[in-house]
Amino acid sequence: MSSVSRILEQASEVPVPDPDAYRLIGMDTESLLAAACVRRDRAWGTTLTFSPKVFLPITNLCRNRCDYCSFRRSPGDPGEWTMSPEEIRAWLHRARDQGCIEALLCLGDTPETGFREYRELLRSWGHQRTVDYLRWAAEEALAVGLLPHTNAGILSRDDMIALRPVNVSLGLMLENVSDRLCAKGMPHHRAPDKRPARRIRMTREAGELQIPFTSGLLIGIGETIEERIDTILTIRRLHREYGHIGEVIVQNFRAHARTPMGNAPEPTSGELAQTIALARLLLDDEVSVQAPPNLNPASVPTLIRSGINDFGGISPVSPDYINPRHPWPYLDLLGEACAVEGFRLRPRLPVYPLHLDAPGFVDASLRPRIDQAQMELATP
Ligand code: SF4
Repeated sequence: MSSVSRILEQASEVPVPDPDAYRLIGMDTESLLAAACVRRDRAWGTTLTFSPKVFLPITNLCRNRCDYCSFRRSPGDPGEWTMSPEEIRAWLHRARDQGCIEALLCLGDTPETGFREYRELLRSWGHQRTVDYLRWAAEEALAVGLLPHTNAGILSRDDMIALRPVNVSLGLMLENVSDRLCAKGMPHHRAPDKRPARRIRMTREAGELQIPFTSGLLIGIGETIEERIDTILTIRRLHREYGHIGEVIVQNFRAHARTPMGNAPEPTSGELAQTIALARLLLDDEVSVQAPPNLNPASVPTLIRSGINDFGGISPVSPDYINPRHPWPYLDLLGEACAVEGFRLRPRLPVYPLHLDAPGFVDASLRPRIDQAQMELATP
């Protein structure tokens, strides 16, 4: 047996060790996908999951300017929006009525460091900092029976300590560990919060604080395949140190009009499939591998055949504000697509059994809400 065949055979059993990881690059995609599916099937069975969520874009103000982003605004821009307390409450109740479990609190990066108008708005609502407002919003979500998951970009250690008791998990896309993507002419040049060292540091601190954590890659923004593997291996190292990574999203860049990358080529479904398979073969089995179906409506069977076990959050009430031109799939159609591939589609919590069953990861005060949500999911 050639050494390449040996690596692939081992990959279908256990995560590929660091020295062999880059040798997966040259392998034919079909074999790679087949090995990833063996690993997925053994670890996650024949159930594919999603999280029924409401997406709350707390503010779209952001001090960064990523070249691919259509979400961010500055004060005074058309479409600038910071959700008022009344809007947040109304959306939470609507979400609860529609059977959502997760409240995803999402926003631009560190807006109060960039914009005086925003700081004044927060103060008029009785909050000094974004983290105070996020904490209030999460408490409101818990009060109506939703489980908060916050992805607020870069957070300090103290911010995460403040949010931990009112969130079942936090998230930050690592995106890519390549500093090259921050160089002049590259997509993160005008995004100080996308410096890989900052994002690695926050991911590490979340691990030290035992916070269940979502990470992920963004592919197709000028990175190489080696840099994708560097990124997956970085996430793996952090998870092996702290055990806190619940899921890794493999997200493909989609071009948005009126952005600097509006005409940039998007990654092919083959590239996406290869990266999903690499993530499945390199990450430990207990880490969920996820890809968003709304960004790949024609490729759902390919996502499944690449080794995902999860579709991420899908909302019956709110759009994907980051990708507003890409609506969520209808659940019955997604369920049918899963059935054709031999899988059943089921809703899940925004925190995984890995962390529910391990001591120290979920604040004790959240347990009753989690138990309640679990019961609701178990009731057909
Ligand atoms: S991708 Fe995130 S960090 Fe970058 S500009 Fe958009 S909102 Fe800001």
